[in-house]
Amino acid sequence: MLDFKFKENFRKSIQPLKPYIPGRPIDDVKAEYQLENVVKLASNENPYGCSQSVKAAVLASLADVALYPDGYCAKLRAAVASFYDVPADNLVFGAGSDEIISMLAKIFIEPADEAITAQITFPQYAAAVTAMGGIIKTVPMHNHAYNLTAILQEITPKTKLIFLANPNNPTGTYFGKQEQTDFLVKINKISPKIVVIFDEAYKEYVSANDFPETISQMAENPNIVVLRTFSKAYGLAGLRVGFGICHKTIVEQLEKIRQPFNVTNLAQAAALAALADQNFVQKSHQLNRQIMQYTEEKFAKMGLFSVPSQANFLMTDVARDSLTVFEKLMQKGYIIRPGAAFGMEKFIRLTIGTEQEMNGFLAEIKEVLK
Ligand SMILES: *Cc1c(COP(=O)(O)O)cnc(C)c1O
Repeated sequence: MLDFKFKENFRKSIQPLKPYIPGRPIDDVKAEYQLENVVKLASNENPYGCSQSVKAAVLASLADVALYPDGYCAKLRAAVASFYDVPADNLVFGAGSDEIISMLAKIFIEPADEAITAQITFPQYAAAVTAMGGIIKTVPMHNHAYNLTAILQEITPKTKLIFLANPNNPTGTYFGKQEQTDFLVKINKISPKIVVIFDEAYKEYVSANDFPETISQMAENPNIVVLRTFSKAYGLAGLRVGFGICHKTIVEQLEKIRQPFNVTNLAQAAALAALADQNFVQKSHQLNRQIMQYTEEKFAKMGLFSVPSQANFLMTDVARDSLTVFEKLMQKGYIIRPGAAFGMEKFIRLTIGTEQEMNGFLAEIKEVLK
């Protein structure tokens, strides 16, 4: 093995980071346990795939793979701007909203700057801030949900960013319109310079009537960023495309550090087609809600509590070590996320699959928990 003489030259701020551990790939699990069928319920992907129209769009865009993509995403930009009724220059596109999270940390965070988020939430906020040498402060949950009041109390003169996932991953909880508006009023009193990032990756799955319409709050709040993705309800996780909506001034800075060709031809074409098929999104939403309710009721009959969810997954208390449950389910061909990965040792996070997948899963977990 090579001995790295330059080890000490690595950027110090990345030393505390650990590589992201994704949900286990299906083929891996098939090979390890010699299984023919494996169902992945670990990464909140859409079990119905994506809109039929996406396939044709991607096939057509194959003609252009020798060419660099349009870095400006002009067609997709125009479609998204019109769909959400926002100016085209308030948009930024990324290889998934993950990329935009790290871009935001890059443009705002200098060493020793602070950002705040919840203790049990999407791990990329902490990773992005830490990588830039910033300090991430995490606030304990309140009934498995974001505690916005406690977040306000963590603000210091060094606070630059606040990351809020709504609905939250991995707990599926949400905060409503009134709570969000009150929060923004208070933030603007403390310091209107603090940028609040609302990560709404699961917005298309929300059913709650009092869920915030964050995009419409942007006019009065130039310091907010809304993140959306094509990875979840739109079913394009494998193509990597997401976007942010924010003030032009923030977009201008993001454009300076954005990789020039960060969203591929195929991803742009797919997203354009996916956005046009709202029927598919609505159907996915309806089926998810119905089957999530069904699953939650079955869990309740087994005596298991699930955190009420507005997303496409359930965080369920299995009242025993989640890593053991995870291992046993995997042997049966079901990949889930152990809550231990998020600091919830006795919970599992289960992506809601099709009715057939859920019935199969419920039969197996009954055995596992016996
Ligand atoms: C899945 C997810 C994302 C982003 O996914 P991309 O595929 O990078 O767009 C962002 N935030 C949360 C909370 C998520 O769960």
